[in-house]
Amino acid sequence: MHTELLTALLTLVMGSFASQEHFQSFDDGVRPTAQQCCNSLEAVLVSSVILYPGSSGYTDQLGSYYSLDQATQRPACRIAPSTAEDVALIVKYATSSRCEFAVRSGGHMSWEGSSNIGHNGFTIDLEGLKLIELQDGGETLSIAPGLTWGEVYAFLKPHGLHTVGARSPGVGVGGFLLGGGVSFLSTEHGLGSDNVLDYEVVLSNGSIVHANKAERSDLFWALKGGSTNYGIVTRFLMPTMPLTQLWGGFLTYSANAVPQLYERMVKVTDQLKVDPRGLMIICTAWNPATKEHTVWALALYLAPHEYPSPLFDGLQDIAPIGGTTRVTNLGEILDEAGQALPKSQYSQWFTLTFKADAKLPWDVQLKGEDIFGDLESSDAHWEVLVQPMNEGMFSAGQKRGGNPFGLSRTHENLCLVMLVMVFWTNPEESALIKAKTQEYLKVSMDLARERGLLTEFIYANYASGTQNVLESYGEENIKKMRAVKEKYDPNNLLEVWKGGWKL
Ligand SMILES: Cc1cc2nc3c(=O)[nH]c(=O)nc-3n(C[C@H](O)[C@H](O)[C@H](O)COP(=O)(O)OP(=O)(O)OC[C@H]3O[C@@H](n4cnc5c(N)ncnc54)[C@H](O)[C@@H]3O)c2cc1C
Repeated sequence: MHTELLTALLTLVMGSFASQEHFQSFDDGVRPTAQQCCNSLEAVLVSSVILYPGSSGYTDQLGSYYSLDQATQRPACRIAPSTAEDVALIVKYATSSRCEFAVRSGGHMSWEGSSNIGHNGFTIDLEGLKLIELQDGGETLSIAPGLTWGEVYAFLKPHGLHTVGARSPGVGVGGFLLGGGVSFLSTEHGLGSDNVLDYEVVLSNGSIVHANKAERSDLFWALKGGSTNYGIVTRFLMPTMPLTQLWGGFLTYSANAVPQLYERMVKVTDQLKVDPRGLMIICTAWNPATKEHTVWALALYLAPHEYPSPLFDGLQDIAPIGGTTRVTNLGEILDEAGQALPKSQYSQWFTLTFKADAKLPWDVQLKGEDIFGDLESSDAHWEVLVQPMNEGMFSAGQKRGGNPFGLSRTHENLCLVMLVMVFWTNPEESALIKAKTQEYLKVSMDLARERGLLTEFIYANYASGTQNVLESYGEENIKKMRAVKEKYDPNNLLEVWKGGWKL
């Protein structure tokens, strides 16, 4: 009721703004400049912070992007709303005036333009939306997209609770849940987005609505993998679960151990159909200083059993160089995981999903030498990270009303998702390394395809902006997603929202 009243008021207010001269409307056919969009919004927004280039706040916000490719884009202004009503006002104005914008939650998507924009647009920075509260006696958690998962876990820890979020503290609630979201709990509880119980979302016309199983169930389904097609989510309702005591930790190995490690991982993945509480991730990385490949693995079991059997039988026989596996709690593992990936560099990511195979990931890692090997004096390096996608992950989603990913359509129980990351620091190398990364993507895909291992699904949260993420969900799901789009944004007003994957 409260929301409906506010929306009605907003519509009235926006109606009167649209008639003001400096608010060039869509119908006039004249598109305001990004600067005019910022100025017009500044005149009407009361509880939002508007930052312009040169201010320290603007610079600070840019510093929070994970990839320098995103951080070096310079929008005409950055607008940080602190209420859903202000988000609604911004969207309503931007879509009616055709102002281009991007939306940032945690800023961890790596490709340029995914959550930031150049001088021809403005960025809605959701950092001011920090509301977090336990509901239903602690069984559910309401979270706003300005939070990072580190902040969510810090809030939950004193309550002995956890939820299905990212494995690195800086990742934002918004982007993670709009792209799917693989958590430490996903082999058992499914993707993050499969766990969302309710979305509060601002639609293209500026209305604020809820989508859940009972209300707008079509939009609820589409938002589980909706990217930037349906609206800006201003609240997510998630279930909570006890902060589990578990066994796990990081293990480092020499490159000689890689073939055996991947053999073990394929077995662990297979066993997940019997016991979904385990997880194994392997990461191989080129070290440009030593010109060697380094290797780490994460082994995890969501119960406090020393070397859980039969899942991890045989892992002890592969001698690590170092390791931290022990009985501990999830919070400790999250702290360790937060250190696992490099920060403040240029980075390009891509991904592929393949039938569980012990050879492909290491061959892809080695192909990196052919592609980047001639960058002799460069600090550029690449990493290949592989983790399972198991049947439990797919069925958890189905039980909660399904999602658009089409995973059960293309996947067998034994499936691995590969994330390839390329990092460098010298901006003068950017054009060359980006071109080489696209070549690497093609070579890796071809290798998987030639061996009959490539599966269709492309995971949005790991993908390059050049990958056809939505197409990978299958024709039927795309048709369904389009029908939902037609219903909630019939004139494609959200075309002015840049970044993400568009239908
Ligand atoms: C160090 C690191 C660790 C990671 N760990 C994991 C992991 O454990 N599991 C995993 O699955 N992925 C992981 N990722 C990938 C990550 O989930 C994606 O990059 C995700 O998109 C980041 O979310 P964000 O909010 O930080 O990103 P942003 O760059 O802010 O947003 C990403 C996209 O979502 C859109 N968006 C953001 N908020 C909203 C909203 N409220 N409503 C509508 N659209 C919105 C943006 O416009 C943008 O297109 C990791 C990435 C990094 C860099």
